[in-house]
Amino acid sequence: MIKNLQRRNFIRLGSASLLIGAASVSLPNIVRGAQKKVVVIGGGAGGAIAAKYIKKSDSSIDVTLIESNKTYHTCFMSNEVIGGGREIGSLNHNYRGLKKRGINIIYGKATAVDVEKNTVVTGMGDKFEYDRLVVSPGISLKTEDIEGYDDTAASVMPHAWKAGVQTGLLRRQLLEMDDGGLVIVAPPANPFRCPPGPYERVCQIAHYLKNHKPKSKILVIDSNDKFSKQALFMQGWEARYKGMIDWVPGTDTGGGVTSVDSAKMIVSTDFDDFNADVANVIPPQQAGEIAQQAGLADKSGWCPVDLGTFESKIHAGIHVIGDASIATGMPKSAYAANSQAKVCAAAIVASLNNTEILEPSYVNTCYSLVAPDYGISIAAVYRLSKDRSEIKSVSGGLTASDASPETLRREVQYAYSWYNNIVADMFT
Ligand SMILES: Cc1cc2nc3c(=O)[nH]c(=O)nc-3n(C[C@H](O)[C@H](O)[C@H](O)COP(=O)(O)OP(=O)(O)OC[C@H]3O[C@@H](n4cnc5c(N)ncnc54)[C@H](O)[C@@H]3O)c2cc1C
Repeated sequence: MIKNLQRRNFIRLGSASLLIGAASVSLPNIVRGAQKKVVVIGGGAGGAIAAKYIKKSDSSIDVTLIESNKTYHTCFMSNEVIGGGREIGSLNHNYRGLKKRGINIIYGKATAVDVEKNTVVTGMGDKFEYDRLVVSPGISLKTEDIEGYDDTAASVMPHAWKAGVQTGLLRRQLLEMDDGGLVIVAPPANPFRCPPGPYERVCQIAHYLKNHKPKSKILVIDSNDKFSKQALFMQGWEARYKGMIDWVPGTDTGGGVTSVDSAKMIVSTDFDDFNADVANVIPPQQAGEIAQQAGLADKSGWCPVDLGTFESKIHAGIHVIGDASIATGMPKSAYAANSQAKVCAAAIVASLNNTEILEPSYVNTCYSLVAPDYGISIAAVYRLSKDRSEIKSVSGGLTASDASPETLRREVQYAYSWYNNIVADMFT
């Protein structure tokens, strides 16, 4: 099956229009043949969309979504919670809308995939058969790469890279910190979920400190030498948080944080030890646990896929989307996961109905909130390269470095609108 998918000639059609208007996507309804089964693991930015658009496109397909948690906490906009500009409850979403669409929602953890028998088993011992499986489990944190960063350390030096409890913890620590304290933010080595995320977080923390604890400082101990939207972020730091933020690139940190002592609040690199009042240590990442267990990841820890269908290059019949996949050319973002999920859904529906797979198109926009009236963004539209080795940006852009205050204000409103649209797309 996988070979047929990949050998097919891809025809051009409006998948760009399917993908760009996230809330207004529509696919033809095809209702025929024996009932096919699709199982989706993970009801996040990728999985919820894959489940919804497969069902929406072909209501005859039996779609089952297996998700560990009854409530999904978006990481997107969680930095605003950490900065105090948003209530944590506004990040919470549930699966009732997807259930109403006829998707079987199973709350439980997928613990094993039998790639020979095409079944998924959950922690409760339930078994689900599939014709096609979609795996969108997000990331797992390689905590073992930072000496001393165990569960206890994570509760003292929160990563807040999975939203929910960790987000609230980091927020509370900032509230409890004395004025004049040092906040350390330690971004991991690439690739990781949400490349601009750590730097937006720095802005949000700086905004809170500027207004409530102005003698405090932020030290960014980076693992990398450069970062997404760097010039725009640095311009924002200079304009709004002058003298508050000290960013140290990977070359000067010896590649970032190597160990922590959470009892003493010490964060160490190969060169130095730093005493923090609040430490946001973000460990290196890889594809979610179930992707590793199912043997879908390669040595890099991420999952190689055909970029036109997101079918695994390791196990036929299984598609990996979102952060867990190696979507060469696209960042690991919710909007990228949303776009990949739609490409994947269309490919699965076509293959289950023996119809032609359309030429895919993909989109991504990442907004970052520098301050409540200061947003910046990066956007791109992509096509699959001819040799299928890359999802190539064919158009896009960044906020202009000389953008007017009004434009920067509008970017914030666009960011809120983007958020409302993507969660409506995922959960209704
Ligand atoms: C601070 C921060 C800010 C961000 N801001 C933005 C932003 O502004 N814009 C943007 O586009 N992206 C943003 N992102 C990135 C975005 O959150 C991720 O890229 C996106 O969530 C990836 O989607 P996914 O489906 O791969 O994983 P997720 O959305 O994490 O979904 C994975 C789901 O799978 C479930 N799961 C995992 N394993 C199992 C299992 N074995 N069984 C059952 N269920 C399982 C999990 O419970 C989870 O619900 C941000 C991330 C962070 C950390």
